[in-house]
Amino acid sequence: MPSGIYKRIIGVNCVLPSQGFQKGHKVLPKWGFQKGHKLSCGKNNSMYGKKLSKEHKRKIGESGIGRIVSKKTREKIRQSHLGKKLPPFTKKHKEKLRQSHLGRSWGHHTRESKEKIRQSRLGEKHWRWNPNRELLKRNLRNDPEYKQWVRKVKLRDKQTCLINDENCKGYNIVHHIFPWRKYPKLRYELTNGITLCQAHHRQVHKTRAEEERFKKLFSYLVNQK
Ligand SMILES: [Zn+2]
Ligand SMILES: [Zn+2]
Repeated sequence: MPSGIYKRIIGVNCVLPSQGFQKGHKVLPKWGFQKGHKLSCGKNNSMYGKKLSKEHKRKIGESGIGRIVSKKTREKIRQSHLGKKLPPFTKKHKEKLRQSHLGRSWGHHTRESKEKIRQSRLGEKHWRWNPNRELLKRNLRNDPEYKQWVRKVKLRDKQTCLINDENCKGYNIVHHIFPWRKYPKLRYELTNGITLCQAHHRQVHKTRAEEERFKKLFSYLVNQK
């Protein structure tokens, strides 16, 4: 294999996506060239022995020295490298490849949105994310027995949050002290309902531990009524 062509191809066509073009296109990538590696350089490369197209040349010109290759070109390089082991893959690059293999349906979940999903699955909030449960919740709300129970609890508590401190905020909600799902028999029990403001209701459902902690206090408050 003529070494002259080799150098040119490695320099021009085998730039890793994360690396820009290098001055003069003659410098070998940092990791150098290893005998017998399976990079798409050389015979396997579609560009082997061919001259660069006008468009490609123009792109190289546009990309300038040290600048990152255009998205289209990068995608081409990425495609050609997929499934081929390149010795010096950085962790960052590996992660990128991993993401691309996972497919878009999952790949778009950033760490932040994953955290949001986790949060949403805590307590009653979970229902928002499960269509079946959402339906259950809606049916529950439309149930006349449930509506009556809510009215009775609110009436008993004089439409006021029973925690009733300076942190009270928002509209009132009737909360199940013993969860609706876990204790079907207590669903419409007057003593299992407590009127809470939005702020305190949110606090109660923040964690499982909080839910447990408030059970005792709420039972006590309700029994005082
Ligand atoms: Zn309150
Ligand atoms: Zn609640």
